[in-house]
Amino acid sequence: MINVLFSALPETWNEYQQPLTSAFAASGLEVTLGTDLPPETVDWIIYAPNGGLSDFTPFTRLKGIQSLWAGVEQIVGNPTIKVPLARMVDPGMTEGMVEWVTGHVLRHHLGMDADITRTDGQWVKHTAPLARQRPVAMLGLGELGTACGQALSALNFDVHGWSRSAKQIDGITCHHGDSGLEDVLNLAQIVVILLPSTPATENLLNTDRLNRLPRGAMLVNPGRGPLIDDDALIAALDSGQIGHATLDVFRVEPLPTDHAFWSHPRVTVTPHIASETRPFTAAQTAVNNILRGHRGEPLLHTVDTALGY
Ligand code: NAP
Repeated sequence: MINVLFSALPETWNEYQQPLTSAFAASGLEVTLGTDLPPETVDWIIYAPNGGLSDFTPFTRLKGIQSLWAGVEQIVGNPTIKVPLARMVDPGMTEGMVEWVTGHVLRHHLGMDADITRTDGQWVKHTAPLARQRPVAMLGLGELGTACGQALSALNFDVHGWSRSAKQIDGITCHHGDSGLEDVLNLAQIVVILLPSTPATENLLNTDRLNRLPRGAMLVNPGRGPLIDDDALIAALDSGQIGHATLDVFRVEPLPTDHAFWSHPRVTVTPHIASETRPFTAAQTAVNNILRGHRGEPLLHTVDTALGY
């Protein structure tokens, strides 16, 4: 018998209650699942920060927290969390991100905007290079960056990935460390950012690094807003150093209506939709991880609090 607290926005509970209940029922374990359990009875918490819970001190028999979000920057430093914190790694989320990233990279690669916005009756041919001739940088080679990089590689893009630690990944030329980042930026015509927001990655894309890119390079950021220095990006867009930025995530969300990104002709704003956590897959993922913990096995995808991701 275990007690599982669901702590997120009320509308999120409406989406998750049924799939979580079914997934726990299929396990055969007796589970009390709810949004309002006495803290001292709770064994596990399924969690998103927007539910308002931030003091975990009263949860005296808590064994672990399963985040509904992949990005954990809002909770990783919470000093009242004394149990393992698992982030969301879910096949539905990965699939969604691969689709979004591939779509936006293809948009820039093929120069689709030229035709989509043309209404002047002019027959202007523009031939894109083949994908094999287009170097793409994937900053971040975790669950999402690797899947997106391999999907682009399957389309023949010349994919160069960058991560903190050294890696070998089929289809991706892997780089790491400061000099690895310089190497990747020196050649990338399209840069996709799938890094977590941590103290080490804040303002990673600053004036110096934006200037390293080939002139007119395109940015696609579904990672997190603080990874880019906003003022540096606007200056680089104004000068044409950056040809276009497709931004899904921002320092302040929703992006304030008067923010310069909204009206900039070289910016596409999308409202943090690159990949939602899909309840129909994520509920099973969360339940599987809690069942692992209940059996005494380590949770999958736990966060390293020192690294912040
Ligand atoms: P992940 O599996 O933790 O991968 C993170 C990657 O970033 C790893 O390759 C890691 O390197 C690298 N990294 C971290 N710190 C670094 C540093 N200082 N220097 C170089 N590389 C560094 O994360 P994920 O599941 O792929 O998710 C990535 C991010 O996507 C999330 O943190 C979240 O912010 C964002 N996200 C956005 C949406 C959306 O809808 N917009 C949806 C889901 C996720 P190592 O491999 O060496 O550890």
